[in-house]
Amino acid sequence: MLTKAAGAGKIPEVMKAWALFGPGDLRPVTKPVPRPGEAEVLVKIEAVAICGTDIEILRNGLPAMVGGKPPFNGRHVIGHEYAGTVAVLGPTVDEFRVGDRVVVEVHAGCGRCERCRHGMYTSCLNYSNTAKRHRANGFTTDGAFAEYAVNHVNTLCALPDHLSFEEATLIVTAGTALYGLDVLGGLIAGATLLVMGPGPIGLMAAACGKALGAHVILTGTRENRLALGRRLGADETVNVKTQNAVDTIQALTGGAGVDLVMECSGAPTAINEALYVTKRGGRICLAAFSHEPVLFDAAHMVRNNIYLYGIRGEGQGAVRRGLALMAQGKISGKPFITHEFQMDDLPRALETAEKRLGDAIKVVVKP
Ligand SMILES: [Zn+2]
Ligand SMILES: [Zn+2]
Repeated sequence: MLTKAAGAGKIPEVMKAWALFGPGDLRPVTKPVPRPGEAEVLVKIEAVAICGTDIEILRNGLPAMVGGKPPFNGRHVIGHEYAGTVAVLGPTVDEFRVGDRVVVEVHAGCGRCERCRHGMYTSCLNYSNTAKRHRANGFTTDGAFAEYAVNHVNTLCALPDHLSFEEATLIVTAGTALYGLDVLGGLIAGATLLVMGPGPIGLMAAACGKALGAHVILTGTRENRLALGRRLGADETVNVKTQNAVDTIQALTGGAGVDLVMECSGAPTAINEALYVTKRGGRICLAAFSHEPVLFDAAHMVRNNIYLYGIRGEGQGAVRRGLALMAQGKISGKPFITHEFQMDDLPRALETAEKRLGDAIKVVVKP
């Protein structure tokens, strides 16, 4: 039995969605509106931001996988950075009411593996095993380029009225940035934080680092992105096209180096540059995919007791902390949103994001 509050409105039997048929082949389809099971909620989608990973999935399939297979099955729906309204409550759900505004976390772990038991549900050992109730909407289960999506109740966060659905789509990005700062040890105030790469996650890492009290240095190659980084809180920026990254950062820190690095560029030279500017005993977190295997100076890392981490997604409740910072006005999603499209125009929206047409940073899609 599904619980529906008064005024919920009628939920249709079918909905419009965009499904993946092959690499680069996304088509509009009609799908049954999914029904939430135990501990699940049906969310009516109000806004979805396009992520670089959506483009990656559209082109190559991975990191999405459906039932252990590529997602090109004529059914899979991508889109994982979204906000919406609670439309139907599944059995036992009393944490939300129909009509509540929510923002989502992407990953719902299985809840039964070792990693989930440690709170590391973005590293769930039953990844993509839906029989064991793992969900990662847009990756292993259906995402948000549709009218509705089912979410596990543990992935929903209540959205305060003063945050718009559009701005709320950036909370997942903030969650990834904050998860990176968590694995760096969480001692942020007073630390010097280097953020490499002013894409959405890098810019958000700069903003979150500043909100948490760090001295932030941001590197990149595009002057307008670095200027936006300064607006969002970077104390200093380095254009690595015109300046030597290592020399400039050493000079900026009086030769001391930085305490923490968030590497968000994926550039093949980035790990070495990070190692050569990190203070002895400092920490580096990799948050970007490099497209080829990377060689780096492991001896320098060992001699200097530098820690190297990799993160996936937005673990350990980081989305909730991102929401708190945004609700308190300490970070903002608005400067990231450069373009908005209707859901019917999704191919154009994806092209705008992929080719960075009109210097797109975040493209938001609405039904
Ligand atoms: Zn994403
Ligand atoms: Zn698990």
